[in-house]
Amino acid sequence: MPGAIQVPVTNSLLASLPRKDYRRLLTGFEPVTLTFGEIIYEPGKPIRHVYFPNDSLVSLLTLADGHLALEVGMVGHEGMVGTPVPLGVNVSAVRALVQGSGTAMRMTSVRFRKEFQNCPPLQRALYRYIHVLMAQVTQTAACNRFHVVEARLARWLLMTRDRVRANQFRLTQEFLAHMLGVRRVGVTKAASALQQRKLIRYSRGEIHILDDKGLEAAACRCYQVVKDVHDRA
Ligand SMILES: [Zn+2]
Repeated sequence: MPGAIQVPVTNSLLASLPRKDYRRLLTGFEPVTLTFGEIIYEPGKPIRHVYFPNDSLVSLLTLADGHLALEVGMVGHEGMVGTPVPLGVNVSAVRALVQGSGTAMRMTSVRFRKEFQNCPPLQRALYRYIHVLMAQVTQTAACNRFHVVEARLARWLLMTRDRVRANQFRLTQEFLAHMLGVRRVGVTKAASALQQRKLIRYSRGEIHILDDKGLEAAACRCYQVVKDVHDRA
């Protein structure tokens, strides 16, 4: 029901589609609000819906030993959550956790697969996006192994900024420690160092980015490497 859609659709992937395809697809979408901390997929479990975030942000986490979670990808307005579905797979390999509250457009996997088969522009957009997401995931693997926490934190904050399109967002140190796979004290030290350099301000679970250029200089090269892949695609 197109009339039921009342949230502004600001997902860039959907917006990049030809008008005709975009309008047809909208009839199959349902706007939903995603809330911080909500888990939308678990590894090994069926994917019932795919999501195109508007202003929400979703983390893709991989689990080790069943309970240790590490972020391997991040999806915002530039992408889609549920990329196995267009590849013909109905089961998630990762946990998908809402990292920033906001809205998303959701469609059942069954309907989405049909739309995907009949819409070449959507196929092209998603192949490009899946390529970019793969680049992000592989770069993150190297980043987690080789780069220091302070540079990784700076990278993570910039990736979040790009995806929520805001310089201020909510974040707890505990959450960040999980995302970066380090102990909380490590995050505290890295955040204090960035704060002392006047690149960010951190108080009561709110992060403000004060100096974009400075933070980009403090981040490891991984930020730019993935951004370049995205811009080229
Ligand atoms: Zn890195």
